[in-house]
Amino acid sequence: MAALIDGKAIAAKVKAEVAEGAEALVREFGEEARPNMTLIEVGHDPVSQKLVGMKAKDCEAAGVIPTVISLSAATSETKLLRLIDRLNRDDDVKAILCQLPLPEHISTKKVLAAIAPEKDVDGFSARIDCDDYDVAACTPAAVMRMLRENGVDVAGRHCVVVGRSNIVGKPMAIQLLLNDATVTVCHSRTEDVAAYTRMADVLIVEVGRAGYITADMIKEGAVVIDVGMNYIDGRPTGDVDFAGASQKASLITPVPGGVGPMTRAYLLVNALKLAERRVGKETDAERKADHE
Ligand code: NAP
Repeated sequence: MAALIDGKAIAAKVKAEVAEGAEALVREFGEEARPNMTLIEVGHDPVSQKLVGMKAKDCEAAGVIPTVISLSAATSETKLLRLIDRLNRDDDVKAILCQLPLPEHISTKKVLAAIAPEKDVDGFSARIDCDDYDVAACTPAAVMRMLRENGVDVAGRHCVVVGRSNIVGKPMAIQLLLNDATVTVCHSRTEDVAAYTRMADVLIVEVGRAGYITADMIKEGAVVIDVGMNYIDGRPTGDVDFAGASQKASLITPVPGGVGPMTRAYLLVNALKLAERRVGKETDAERKADHE
């Protein structure tokens, strides 16, 4: 029977680290250095609204000042891009997040590209060679931390990522490579996905289909990370058939309580890093480089 990777518990630890970092920043550079985050929501999708509400609450608990901007579903792409441009130029705004999904008439690609990299708290514009010390895409960074906290070293292991989205699958594969894993990425055009997942020492799934990974697709003793977040009758469900997979895996993330809270915690990590850069505080990356 698999042991649980407790995303909530690790997220609480990460949030406490950010709160401490935020207070240290304020002590050194004054209140104006405090991290903040502007969260934009377009439309009134109840799941998105709930997520934005939780993210804002997380901010408050970690000493990051949240501002929520709610726009109607009819907001035009031009109006949203103009708002982002204004926020990019506003010196008081340190971090910007645009909650996805956006209404169909708005190009997600254009909107995400419009957010200035120095304010991109989701880390979607992170460099390909970014490591733990940089602002990285939140979900992959969160998954790497969950693995580390549970003593899973991916070096030399076969990690299979199912899904190749720009926000999860691709940066996830890169993070794994940077940590010396051997990586296979599957997607909707992969023939016989199960043939690959059965070879995975570490299986990371972000397909967006409830119960897509069944027990027979998992190698005995594998580590299973379920990024999927599907809402069935309003209840979040992962991409992995949890009950079956738990019989095969050695470690597994639950949904809810797994990757979700950790992704949100890594938004706070990024908000702190962006605020630190604003005051020219030596970042962990620079400290690390100095010691190499
Ligand atoms: P997405 O952009 O739709 O990407 C889904 C990926 O799955 C695509 O690469 C797609 O392949 C692949 N896929 C679809 N059907 C497949 C199949 N039958 N076999 C193999 N691969 C298949 O979705 P996303 O935004 O990355 O999100 C995916 C899921 O993760 C959603 O449930 C989302 O809610 C969740 N999510 C959770 C968190 C969290 O913090 N827990 C964060 C982000 C996302 P193609 O590229 O070929 O289309």
